[in-house]
Amino acid sequence: MSEIEEKPVNSTASESANCDFIRAIVNTDIRSGKYRSEDIRTRFPPEPNGYLHIGHAKAICIDFGIAAEYGGKCNLRMDDTNPGKEDVEYVESIEEDIRWLGYHWDGPVRFASDYFPKMYEYAVLLIQKGLAYVDDQTAEEIRVNRGTLTEAGKSSPWRDRSVEENLDLFERMKNGEFPDGSKVLRAKIDMASPNVNFRDPVMYRILHMPHHRSGDQWCIYPMYDWAHGLEDSIEGITHSLCTLEFEIHRPLYEWFLQPLPVHRPQQIEFSRLNLTYTVMSKRKLLRLVQEKHVSGWDDPRMPTLCGLRRRGYTPEAIRTFVQQTGITKFNGITDVAVLENCLREDLNKAASRYLAVLRPLKVTITNYPEDQVEWLDAVNNPECPEQGTRKIPFGREIFIDEDDFREVPPPKYFRLAPGKEVRLRWGYFLTCQDVLRDADGHICELLCTYDPATRGGNAPDGRKVKGTIHWVEASHAVTATVRLYDRLFNSENPDDSPDGQDFISNLNPDSLTVLSNCRLEPALAELPPESRVQFERVGYFCSDRYDHQPGKPVFNRTVSLKDTWAKIEKKQL
Ligand code: ATP
Ligand code: MG
Repeated sequence: MSEIEEKPVNSTASESANCDFIRAIVNTDIRSGKYRSEDIRTRFPPEPNGYLHIGHAKAICIDFGIAAEYGGKCNLRMDDTNPGKEDVEYVESIEEDIRWLGYHWDGPVRFASDYFPKMYEYAVLLIQKGLAYVDDQTAEEIRVNRGTLTEAGKSSPWRDRSVEENLDLFERMKNGEFPDGSKVLRAKIDMASPNVNFRDPVMYRILHMPHHRSGDQWCIYPMYDWAHGLEDSIEGITHSLCTLEFEIHRPLYEWFLQPLPVHRPQQIEFSRLNLTYTVMSKRKLLRLVQEKHVSGWDDPRMPTLCGLRRRGYTPEAIRTFVQQTGITKFNGITDVAVLENCLREDLNKAASRYLAVLRPLKVTITNYPEDQVEWLDAVNNPECPEQGTRKIPFGREIFIDEDDFREVPPPKYFRLAPGKEVRLRWGYFLTCQDVLRDADGHICELLCTYDPATRGGNAPDGRKVKGTIHWVEASHAVTATVRLYDRLFNSENPDDSPDGQDFISNLNPDSLTVLSNCRLEPALAELPPESRVQFERVGYFCSDRYDHQPGKPVFNRTVSLKDTWAKIEKKQL
């Protein structure tokens, strides 16, 4: 079992007594007069090379959340310094997902590529100060000569070029005179530094490749360490919040800004969100899409925000979850059941209840008048009386779920069986009298009787029934497709796979079951796409964002009513 991270819920910034370590730093900066509260400025800097996932949601909630709490501002900046992998499709999805989560960035969306001219100017300044040089070594030579953790690096033969020569070569690099890979601009720091990042890191590489925004304007592109601090500085970011893997880059972030006449933000690192049964890296998510293991980035089994949205997740549940996992400096793995429980709690309050039969078994109520339909009252949400009531039809022919009938009931089976009586939810008591079979011997219909005195679910003579089952009246029922989604991986740590295999081998073959003959009460078919509901006794469902049409409903299972995996895991112990 992996270590499960359990942290107390964050307090708000104003309760400084027990706030997290980032808010503590911000509080100190305000108290010392370094910044005024309203000057606090953060940013969320995704690289537009994929869709946002639940891990990004953590960064978003922290970046936007902290700025909002202090009355400050948060920028949205596309960190688009890698032309090969980036695309406008991703830019648009990122904006949409952040808005959906409920956050607003300050001013326009910003793009690192808009700062390329400024960055170039500052690079020239570093060259003039003797702090950067043009290196003609190949990428391979640079790698080898960087040394190892135990061995110092070797200086490049080009390290001591004159400032004039460096300025000339750098300008010609920019002008496109040299082929890809033939030269780089490097910072001149310390080839013997114990921090390998300090061994003359590359600042610019040559790449004759069009950029999704700047087109063919540039053929040199800045590297992350050089670019990121400048982007933050140009935007006046006060606290640059990022994940722990950047901790070792922080000295470099500071080194680059130090000699320049610019504002210096503070970089602060926190631990990444990791989830059991989930892969999170964009590279792996892209593989799932490209190899068609899922239907796309927004497949409801994906941990992407658009996938979670399509599955039926609420932004509130995601925000509550992020808050519950807390902000720490320890890398841990959070049980995905924590996320699912946040969702259940939210939907339990918000989602109206409906009747839906996923695997229909026909029932004829032999003592109910033919051609009669009556409308019964059903409560929409017992947790939330404001949601009111609705009318549901009842008649001689109904459907129940196959699973709610057993010809030979096991012990403690309180649902329908020959000679047994159950309660139909919001309806009457029903007793099974006979079982009909088709030519193959399969049960195809039940003949039952009802007790007209039990309308609404209670018997005047006080007799009790133990089971209540859901049902749908046949003549008004709408046939629907329902997709039952389950976890995409059947291993707690999908990357932990047998020798020579990778996370793909841990895919759960049963992560999707499509049922196309489900029967819904009529009100469900009239709901717009993205309606979140509970099918009573079955689970939480959401009408599909794209495929659902009134009269031709398609619902996705968001989450079961209870955590069935907890039971499965217990059994395996
Ligand atoms: P991935 O490794 O999943 O491909 P990334 O770090 O390359 O993600 P970016 O687009 O660079 O993705 O990330 C934008 C911001 O989101 C960064 O500040 C990054 O630290 C943060 N972030 C990414 N993944 C997580 C995560 N799992 N938990 C918390 N923050 C994250
Ligand atoms: Mg990244």
